[in-house]
Amino acid sequence: MSTTTLSPHWHFDNSYATLPEGFFSPQPPVAVAAPQLVVLNHALAEQLGLDFSGSDTATLSAIFGGNTLPTGAKPIAQAYAGHQFGNFTMLGDGRAVLLGEHLTPRGQRFDIQLKGSGQTPYSRRGDGRATLSAMLREYIISEAMHHLGIRTSRSLAVAVTGERVYRERVQAGAVLTRVASSHIRVGTFEYARQFLSDEDLQTFTDYVIKRHYEGLQNTQNAALELLRQVIHRQTDLVADWLRVGFIHGVMNTDNMSIAGETIDYGPCAFMNQYDPQTVFSSIDTYGRYAFGNQPKIAHWNLAVFAGTLLPLIDPDPEKATQLAQEVVNTFPAIFKQKWLKMMAAKLGIADVREEDRALIDSLLEWMQAYKADYTNTFWHLSTDHWTPTDHYATASFAEWHGQWQQRVAQAEGGMAAAKKLMQTQNPAFIPRNHLVEEALEQATRYDFAKFETLMQVLSNPYHYRPEYASYQLPPPPQTDEMYQTFCGT
Ligand code: AMP
Ligand code: MG
Repeated sequence: MSTTTLSPHWHFDNSYATLPEGFFSPQPPVAVAAPQLVVLNHALAEQLGLDFSGSDTATLSAIFGGNTLPTGAKPIAQAYAGHQFGNFTMLGDGRAVLLGEHLTPRGQRFDIQLKGSGQTPYSRRGDGRATLSAMLREYIISEAMHHLGIRTSRSLAVAVTGERVYRERVQAGAVLTRVASSHIRVGTFEYARQFLSDEDLQTFTDYVIKRHYEGLQNTQNAALELLRQVIHRQTDLVADWLRVGFIHGVMNTDNMSIAGETIDYGPCAFMNQYDPQTVFSSIDTYGRYAFGNQPKIAHWNLAVFAGTLLPLIDPDPEKATQLAQEVVNTFPAIFKQKWLKMMAAKLGIADVREEDRALIDSLLEWMQAYKADYTNTFWHLSTDHWTPTDHYATASFAEWHGQWQQRVAQAEGGMAAAKKLMQTQNPAFIPRNHLVEEALEQATRYDFAKFETLMQVLSNPYHYRPEYASYQLPPPPQTDEMYQTFCGT
């Protein structure tokens, strides 16, 4: 590995590396044969206060391929554990390194992580590498989520490695530079609780509170308050996922961020036809992580999180369990309220009432029965330029539509106000699976035309542009039934 350091723009301040040594292993990225930058997110770079305009492509390729460390980086692989499909396992960054934490000019702290950067002590039998196709996929979907207004890790760059990666097919290798508030997971707490001392767990919890939940620093029983706050952020996040039809696909506890961001884009996908049972992940045989199961799984994961905090909640294990259980038990009611508010907003109802649940449920039932497209149904209702055709021209839809119009008319501002609200909640454009696949298929042949247009469309998802009308079309019938997504590619 080269030891050259470059670039005056980075401002690293690596707090994670000051934690007790069990939390990470020092690990430089493993140099690659021929790094070549293929995508750079200029808008994100600007938000981070990074200016790459003075850097030539060779320099940037070396940094984003992992062959050169930026000034101030202190690369580590983070240790964590997690429940994968319900089973506890030791994990850790097996194919990623944290270069460090970059402070923006406004003082915000972001993890800068290379994913696909080679083997680490946590690689188990994996090669530590990632494919170009999977890294571009994460780039597209994470950036789309950001533009949809959903908390997420971001993607700064993708560089190909000039090396082959052996999967079902031989593919081009690539490294993704990922930016997140942190990569601290429920699974990091599980690791600390299981494998480190209570003292380390306390140090770590204090660290997490200082980094992500500063308001709790002087609270009585900060660990219990932390649990409450993480539940709030996760319920917000999952409600947002359900708002846009997002299926994470592998909500293992190691893929759940303590900061409440969407992380670890693997077999994720967007739902077309409304069906809460929708699953695309090839390994999710029983639909554990199906679209409509996501709230339940988040609740399950947070119960695991609660378990890791017990020694900090109360020295008496019974008391600690009781206190934690009470907080975990608030999840369903909190989620139910957030879901109602979110779905009502999708229908333009700001002054939500409990009775609105029936109106929402009947639309969802109708959508499922008629195999209606989730995104387009709400988008149609949000726009003035829509004439009902096909299944929207049926008597059953007309009946629901009438009830909805009546409900909206009762609220202040009527339909005009409702549509204004709806246009902020219901995207016209989402990264539909078939569009993502088309862009990837072309990009892996080093033609980025479709990729760039797709990113253009997804950068402003609530704003309808007629020239992109084809991006609203669901895939041809039966395509979804055959569509499969994969982990660890
Ligand atoms: P994921 O399902 O992508 O969240 O990954 C689960 C675990 O497997 C994490 O610890 C990853 O670091 C590890 N992992 C996934 N792919 C690889 C790979 N190609 N080489 C080494 N470790 C990997
Ligand atoms: Mg993961």
